[in-house]
Amino acid sequence: MNKERCVDVLDHFIRHEELLAVAVVDQNQSPVGILDRRKISEIFLKPFARDLLRNKRVIEIMDSNPITVDINASIDDVAQIIIDAGMQHMVNGFIIVDKGIYVGMATGHALLEEITHRRQRDLYTLAHYDHLTGLPNRLLFNDRLEQACHNALRNHTMLGLVFVDLDRFKYINDTLGHSFGDRLLIIVAERLSSCVRQSDTVARLGGDEFVIILQNIENEADAEIVLSNVIDKLRQPMPIFEREIQITASLGMAFFPQHDQAIDGLIRKADAAMYEAKERGRNTYLLYTAEMDHDKVERMSMETQLRMALDSGELSLSYQPQILLSEQRVVGVEVLLRWQHPHFGAVSPATFIPIAEETGLIIPIGEWVLKEACRQHLSWIEQGLPAFRMAVNISGVQFKQRDFCEQVKRIIDESGVDPQYLELELTESVVMTHAEFAVQALIDLRALGVKLALDDFGTGYSSLSYLRKFPLNRIKIDQSFIRHIKSTPANEAIVRAIIALGDSLGLEIIAEGVETGDELECITSHHCHEVQGYHFAKPLTPDDLSGWHRQFIQTSR
Ligand code: C2E
Ligand code: MG
Ligand code: MG
Repeated sequence: MNKERCVDVLDHFIRHEELLAVAVVDQNQSPVGILDRRKISEIFLKPFARDLLRNKRVIEIMDSNPITVDINASIDDVAQIIIDAGMQHMVNGFIIVDKGIYVGMATGHALLEEITHRRQRDLYTLAHYDHLTGLPNRLLFNDRLEQACHNALRNHTMLGLVFVDLDRFKYINDTLGHSFGDRLLIIVAERLSSCVRQSDTVARLGGDEFVIILQNIENEADAEIVLSNVIDKLRQPMPIFEREIQITASLGMAFFPQHDQAIDGLIRKADAAMYEAKERGRNTYLLYTAEMDHDKVERMSMETQLRMALDSGELSLSYQPQILLSEQRVVGVEVLLRWQHPHFGAVSPATFIPIAEETGLIIPIGEWVLKEACRQHLSWIEQGLPAFRMAVNISGVQFKQRDFCEQVKRIIDESGVDPQYLELELTESVVMTHAEFAVQALIDLRALGVKLALDDFGTGYSSLSYLRKFPLNRIKIDQSFIRHIKSTPANEAIVRAIIALGDSLGLEIIAEGVETGDELECITSHHCHEVQGYHFAKPLTPDDLSGWHRQFIQTSR
């Protein structure tokens, strides 16, 4: 304690006669003595606020080798301390510290009582709260929901039950690591709690599954405001371990008593609405409707259906030409996966690839894509087409597999494809997230003779120092920079900078998503090497591609 503060404390003590005593602690907050005004005991901080010394002066305890006990000690430890120190301490008292910090004094009885209470509280907390986020767990949620439903019936009010599921959480957890995932869940818990009133409950049921009980809702519109607020809040970037990540969530809500008077039914309905929200493209909320029950069988089996799609030939590949501008020649195709669902029709890869990644299905699917691309390559050559580079998209989940490189080697060997015609597209965020690992993995892949492209460049967090270390062949400028490039000076400046960067690193540059003549003209003027986009061709079936190629050669002559 510095001098001024000591004097201040003394001054305070002298002026306030009602203060009987003050504890003196050193700079480490450890007790060193007690100022005692009238030779009586002091009443200290709760829970040790007891007249614990009866007629004894505090100073006597301090003199007679006081015993310090940590409040976090177990009952067994305290019992042992009491026995060792002599039973008189049951009455005389102990100095209590909490992790070394002085909190007060207590008799042995008071101390044991307090520790027992704490223990019970801990046990209760352990049993009723989620240890990671501190939110109520499933058990307490069930209690609260039951209670809330009772209240709603008694007061003739309405309550909303909301299921919240984070989109692609499993993927984030698997690719960025579990401690990253844990941090993310903690932030989600805080953000959810900040969106509701004190009287509402936010609980975590497990994994990335959260629920909210909204009590005393006036009408559906009010509840919807809360939900859209939740969606907005969760969408805000989250700083985690010096990175920023953006996540979204899918929410479903059912009302009590309108949608179901039984708790089980209410839970099922909120859950069904959440599933429907996921299926409608995620990042949204839906209120329960009766139709959702009927769709349930199909909805639940989306994952199963994707599993089956691979075996039943519903998956196919389309190929989008990549043109070398200086020679007006097709030098490659990007291989893009397609799913033709028997009922839903064409399902966008933006919808099913994340599901495949979350469920791990991307591993067998990705393997199939590689094999099929190699087979197609050789089949085109057989038909007399020139050898194109086949650019295959590789998911982070595949790339992270220990034996990914061996898998690629096996596919090359078995198919007989010349590896220089196989290009693997990895997104910038995937390689940057595992930068150290990626350097070696990419070197190993290059050793097989395949080419490597960095996809969606500009949307991730490239570090220039890593970019130098990665043995890449090509950078793909993301289509968001190409869009309206002529009328968006910022985009044009970025594209120019990326091309200059690529040139300085000896990398080839391809612009994705070139749709218009204007965009092509602008890209060409900046000496971009290759382009790909609707302006030349949409992704095509193998047969359409042969036809398109014939025509392209004729017109470009
Ligand atoms: P990506 O790798 O960036 O692929 C480019 C996407 O842009 C494709 O969408 C393509 O059809 C689309 N595109 C091409 N030119 C244009 C254009 O001029 N304008 C517009 N608006 N779009 C254009 P698609 O086929 O829907 O694929 C979306 C994403 O799904 C791909 O983005 C890729 O990340 C992923 N994907 C597709 N196939 C596979 C695959 O076999 N494996 C993995 N892991 N991911 C895949
Ligand atoms: Mg791609
Ligand atoms: Mg891309």
